[in-house]
Amino acid sequence: MTVQAPSGIVPLDSILPEEPLLMMGAGPVPIPARVAAANSIVINHLGDTMAQIIEQVKAMSRYVFQTESQHILGVAGPGSAAMEMAIVNLVSPGTKVLSICNGFFSGRLAEMADRAEADVIRMAIPDGQAANPDEVEKYLKQHQPSVLTIVQGETSNTIFNRYLPEIAAIARKHNCLVIVDAVCTLSTMPLLMDSWGIDAVITGGQKGLSSIPGVSLVAFSERAWERINSRKDQLRHWCLDAKLADQFWYKKSYHYTAPVSGILAMHEALRLICNETLSVRFNRHLRCSLALQKAIEALGLSLFVAPEARLNSVVGINMPDNIKIADVLNYISEHYRVEISGSFGPSIVRIGQMGEQSREHNLFRTVHALGASMKALGAPVNVPAGVAALESALGSFTTTAIEI
Ligand SMILES: *Cc1c(COP(=O)(O)O)cnc(C)c1O
Repeated sequence: MTVQAPSGIVPLDSILPEEPLLMMGAGPVPIPARVAAANSIVINHLGDTMAQIIEQVKAMSRYVFQTESQHILGVAGPGSAAMEMAIVNLVSPGTKVLSICNGFFSGRLAEMADRAEADVIRMAIPDGQAANPDEVEKYLKQHQPSVLTIVQGETSNTIFNRYLPEIAAIARKHNCLVIVDAVCTLSTMPLLMDSWGIDAVITGGQKGLSSIPGVSLVAFSERAWERINSRKDQLRHWCLDAKLADQFWYKKSYHYTAPVSGILAMHEALRLICNETLSVRFNRHLRCSLALQKAIEALGLSLFVAPEARLNSVVGINMPDNIKIADVLNYISEHYRVEISGSFGPSIVRIGQMGEQSREHNLFRTVHALGASMKALGAPVNVPAGVAALESALGSFTTTAIEI
């Protein structure tokens, strides 16, 4: 018998490796070589080595999340799977949920709560602003929800909910569990799960942590775990059932075949974070992001969000009227092999400052590439001024009081 070659795809050349693109958008972000190497290994998902890896992933995560939680779970899936895991385990049909909505991802949390048949109250935050704790308290008093959802850094529109600690404290006072999406922010800026009193923290691999997409983490507080344990109804989600996941993460038994390579990559990413230490890492991110912001303004472009609500982990840049976003993205990618992001809503482009993106050499390449691309497309930008401002801002940064 002869096997026919498939038509239309012969000869089948390998697509990779391509000339590397520098991933400076809203994620996924570049990964360190050691993370990539770890991701190439497959081991027994229930063997001794995996058991040690899991213990260390939990221990390192406790540091990165700043928690003593004994309920940190991994999930095979995107950041959204971790979001859904937090929601479906803490929300049952009829649960009253207050969703603080100031962007695409906070809206996604609300939608997930809707689908879990919660009674969802959406608190819409005016464009360009962080959620205000006093306003949140009014909603808490009026609606008495038992779960509140909020995003620390809204990657979609580059809004930073800087009053998260105050909001979490108020929610706690009203006996309301707090779910925080920290996919973009965890390990790029302070998030103190225990001392802020947060009940579920969600993160993904491919943003702040600089690991691969597809393996995510969620940490539950003791209070949240009590709620999970006291549920009498059966969860409709099997893969995302926290009590089943606990079998693998705490009892060395089988739930589903863990994404071993991705967990090894996550282990390596967490190890690099622990070695760097959080305070050094937070300062690196702050220094790089503030310098990038200065450089963008010196180019002659303007930033989308005012400083009081501006996210440092992803920087939003207004487009001049005569320039099309798609043209900028194509030009910068084709001519400079730098990838940046457009947006789902506002007329902005976004440059990420998460993990490996916050490196000086990546900033110089990106600022030059953005400036030169905009200039080529007809925007009145000053490329040398942008690069000079970047150098000067990096040089004059003084370590701030970010201590952990
Ligand atoms: C990217 C992102 C998500 C979703 O992560 P996926 O891995 O794409 O599912 C959720 N929340 C925030 C804040 C994000 O930046």
